[in-house]
Amino acid sequence: MDFDLFVIGGGSAGVRCARIAAGHGARVGVAEERFWGGTCVNIGCVPKKLLVQAGEYGAWADDAAGFGWTIIKEKHDWPALIAAKDREITRLEGIYRKLLNNAGATIFDARATFIDPHTLDVGGKRVTAEKIVIATGGHPERPPIPGAELGIISDDAFFLKQMPERIIVCGSGYIAVEFAGIFQALGAETHLVYRQPLPLRGFDHDMRESLAEALAAQGVILHPRCPLGKLEAAGEKRILTFGDNEKLSADLVFFATGRKPNTSGLGLDKAGVAVNASGAVVVSSKRQTSQPHIFAIGDVTDHINLTPVATAEGHALADTLFGGNPREVSLRNVPSAVFSTPPISTVGLTEEEASAMGPVDVYVTKFTPMRHNLSGRNRKTTMKLIVDQATQKVVGAHMLGEDAPEIIQGIAIAVVMGATKQDFDRTIGIHPTAAEEFVTLRTRTRVAGVAKAAE
Ligand code: NDP
Repeated sequence: MDFDLFVIGGGSAGVRCARIAAGHGARVGVAEERFWGGTCVNIGCVPKKLLVQAGEYGAWADDAAGFGWTIIKEKHDWPALIAAKDREITRLEGIYRKLLNNAGATIFDARATFIDPHTLDVGGKRVTAEKIVIATGGHPERPPIPGAELGIISDDAFFLKQMPERIIVCGSGYIAVEFAGIFQALGAETHLVYRQPLPLRGFDHDMRESLAEALAAQGVILHPRCPLGKLEAAGEKRILTFGDNEKLSADLVFFATGRKPNTSGLGLDKAGVAVNASGAVVVSSKRQTSQPHIFAIGDVTDHINLTPVATAEGHALADTLFGGNPREVSLRNVPSAVFSTPPISTVGLTEEEASAMGPVDVYVTKFTPMRHNLSGRNRKTTMKLIVDQATQKVVGAHMLGEDAPEIIQGIAIAVVMGATKQDFDRTIGIHPTAAEEFVTLRTRTRVAGVAKAAE
């Protein structure tokens, strides 16, 4: 065999797995056909957060007046932002490549496809490997409506030549609400068209409600309960038909309607690797596919599609296969953030999930952050704890508000450790912060899930 391990895909999962396996002394090859670092570094988390930050600078310039500053804000220079973002992403992509080189992995800037269970075609070259890891990620999916090809997807949004005057963002998942906030903050008239009554299906109801209020307060025009109809072109403009035959014209229509695993054309059938109905590679908790020497990690398995989960899986797999340290990644209490404006962050169960299991004490607080009493900005913070009544363990913590992801990361450690409400209560707050609310929530807002307990 040419390699002990061959990794297909140089994104978050693949790079970590290849790097750690090579560090354990394995002979590792890794192929990437597009860009090192994958979606997260190039057309996902990292550039997205830079765009969110660009929007926040604009808001701070407005808010500064309340603190005595006179700031004259000119129109935002989108091409300058994209050029700065591109420079940073090029730098990061170089770092990813260097990390692999330094670890001793053999890099292939090429597409890899299976010829048989141990043989790959890597850019026209036959390569054999003892073990193979599929880490090919996913891609944005347009909705099945007429004219969908006339809209853009998140891959395109990072390279727009100019800021649209009016944009319609379709969907209300992570990507839709993040980009709605970005475009609105950078000066576009932004419409969010989605089929649910509230955005972010699956998130805690209070957070969803607070997010709808926050989006509206930011100026995003919301169109809830609106299924998509069709998209048409009228010269350079796009006309979207949605809801009850409503029509809206815009410079751009952006579909943020979900992602699909990258499995087509990989030759998985030749390798005997099974996929499910949505095209995701089927894996065990050990990330083993239907072919025992082939593994799959990250978004291609479509379970929790988050970079830190992908890197954790890549690391654990490399330790298991080559480091003499077999282990699995727990997918319980995975914290996450939606970089809406302001962001949402969460760890553990929603009230709906927790109360379906038994009675829970629910603590909710909603307030205007100190800064905005002076800035005058209409922006609220919502914080919420869900406590299992029987054990008093905090089973869910949720926040919408500035710095929510920074705050919840610390709270997540407590939740993962099984902290109780009393542990939160005996922790001294840091004053004056929003975060201190998590340790000063004294008055229970309500009890939920009692019906379950009575059964
Ligand atoms: P999501 O699965 O989060 O959301 C998809 C959205 O599209 C939903 O609102 C869904 O509506 C809607 N939708 C799907 N099909 C249609 C349709 N045919 N017509 C109308 N609406 C439709 O996908 P995203 O693309 O936003 O993100 C993909 C994943 O990437 C996320 O789930 C997350 O795991 C990851 N991600 C994480 C980020 C982070 O950590 N900050 C940032 C970006 C992505 P409905 O709810 O009705 O089904």
